[in-house]
Amino acid sequence: MECNHADKLIMKYMDGILSMEEAQKLNFHITECESCRESFFTYQMVMDELRDEAVYEAPDGFEAAVMAKIKDIEVDYKLKEPMSMENITAMLWGMFSLLFGIGVLLCIYSQPILDYLLGNPYTMDWAQAMIPTVEVLAVYVNDIKTRLQELVSSGSQILTSLKMIAIPVLVVLASIKYYIYRKQKVEL
Ligand SMILES: [Zn+2]
Repeated sequence: MECNHADKLIMKYMDGILSMEEAQKLNFHITECESCRESFFTYQMVMDELRDEAVYEAPDGFEAAVMAKIKDIEVDYKLKEPMSMENITAMLWGMFSLLFGIGVLLCIYSQPILDYLLGNPYTMDWAQAMIPTVEVLAVYVNDIKTRLQELVSSGSQILTSLKMIAIPVLVVLASIKYYIYRKQKVEL
């Protein structure tokens, strides 16, 4: 082993991260090489000195400061802990409401959205490919509409107002859930 490698191993030893195998190598080298032996014992002396100094000259409140630091670290750690069941439920509910709201919106306004996309040169091709999907969607939406109209005796009047109410309600619900979720996260 070369002396500069031995020097690196001495540093690792001082940091307490020397492996068993490395320790054996270092031990072997310092029995052979006087200069590395000297530097090894010099380092060790310096380290011992520093350790003693730290013990004797620990200022008042040092322990309290260390404990406070540890508490800080614990708080940091807590934030990284897995979310509570309530938070997960709130988040999932918020996401579900939002996606449902977007889905309802897309179903209702699929035709005007498609028309807009078809008119835009950048999305034209993509929109062209979406036409069959939108048509299928429209059939489903119309089917649901018809059934609902059959169910509701006063017909499309109520259905229209339901649409007008449902979307804002869903958006508000999602926002509230998301707000609660954020607030809980901050309070942790
Ligand atoms: Zn050496």
